[in-house]
Amino acid sequence: MIQTDIIIIGAGPVGLFTVFEAGLLKLKCHLIDSLPQPGGQCSEIYPKKPIYDIPGFPSVLAGELIDNLMEQAAPFKPGFTLGEAALSIDKTEEGKFIVTTVKGTKHEAPIVIIAGGLGVFEPRKPPISNISDFEDKGVEYIIKDPEFYKDKRCVIAGGGDSALDWSIYLAENKIAKEVVLVHRSSSFRGHLDSVQKVIDMAENGMIRLVTEAEVTGLNGEGKLKKVIVTHQTSGEIQIESDHFIPLFGLKPSLGPIADWGLEIEKSAIKVNTLDYSTNIPGIYAVGDVNTYENKLKLILCGFHEGTLAVQSAFARIHPDKKNVLKYTTVNGVQGF
Ligand SMILES: Cc1cc2nc3c(=O)[nH]c(=O)nc-3n(C[C@H](O)[C@H](O)[C@H](O)COP(=O)(O)OP(=O)(O)OC[C@H]3O[C@@H](n4cnc5c(N)ncnc54)[C@H](O)[C@@H]3O)c2cc1C
Repeated sequence: MIQTDIIIIGAGPVGLFTVFEAGLLKLKCHLIDSLPQPGGQCSEIYPKKPIYDIPGFPSVLAGELIDNLMEQAAPFKPGFTLGEAALSIDKTEEGKFIVTTVKGTKHEAPIVIIAGGLGVFEPRKPPISNISDFEDKGVEYIIKDPEFYKDKRCVIAGGGDSALDWSIYLAENKIAKEVVLVHRSSSFRGHLDSVQKVIDMAENGMIRLVTEAEVTGLNGEGKLKKVIVTHQTSGEIQIESDHFIPLFGLKPSLGPIADWGLEIEKSAIKVNTLDYSTNIPGIYAVGDVNTYENKLKLILCGFHEGTLAVQSAFARIHPDKKNVLKYTTVNGVQGF
């Protein structure tokens, strides 16, 4: 049994920063994540994309932000159970929580903070009958490292920001040898400036844009060789390609957390914005996983939520101790 002060479910950016804020209050944390590495969406979906709205960082790659958060949390020696989804939660007679993972690892603490983001997420896959035959043999649903596509021919499908941004990135930085963007409509859902940029790049021959069309078939032996695109009016087009990357977003699913007796609204956990507590005393929810009026799914909002949640957790763990806010500039960071 792993024992700690706070069990944090989800080692995304918000879970990691919550470790730091808890550490300042001398509370020890243990993080559980179903993914094999920390960082949540930042590491899994867009590690090489720059983020521009982290205070104090005009631009930071998502992967670098996670490295920095890990370094910032390190003095407080958080424990990690990685590659295991938290499956169930039980209460002991002493009022503590026991969180058990799919592999049976047990964790005990008086406080649980759920920082589960989008939950256990899965990419939306296009309905192509043999797509699974080419997974990791030319078909990828997430671009983790753009350099993987160096000098390769890539067909990207989708009409949102992810498809637009990656098409621009791979073509503009001359990473991929050829970029074809396929979208079923003639209008895009992404940011207007990204849409305009893709149109301009298509006119300059940097991206081949195929709209009002869908990828309907894949061919190859052992690995992908050809992508078959069906155009709404002109019929079938065969495109020689090394990679097919459908970027249709993620299926948000709370997973096991949905069955823990928490108040759920629109696939997210309802919280009290006083301290981001849930309807179960001792369980908090911070970051993308929670919902309240005016909620914004942004990293900086999650940082604030985690900070307030640990203040409330401190009061629950030490009801007789008064916590006085101390600036880090005055006290520094006193690790464990
Ligand atoms: C392409 C893209 C670009 C973005 N750009 C920006 C941006 O510019 N600025 C910005 O502020 N935000 C941006 N975001 C949103 C930002 O990434 C999220 O707001 C942020 O990741 C939320 O952090 P989190 O820690 O709450 O959750 P997540 O990052 O989703 O991490 C949650 C973690 O919990 C784990 N988990 C869930 N359920 C369980 C379970 N039962 N057991 C164990 N582990 C579990 C998951 O595996 C995951 O690792 C972007 C998102 C995407 C997809």
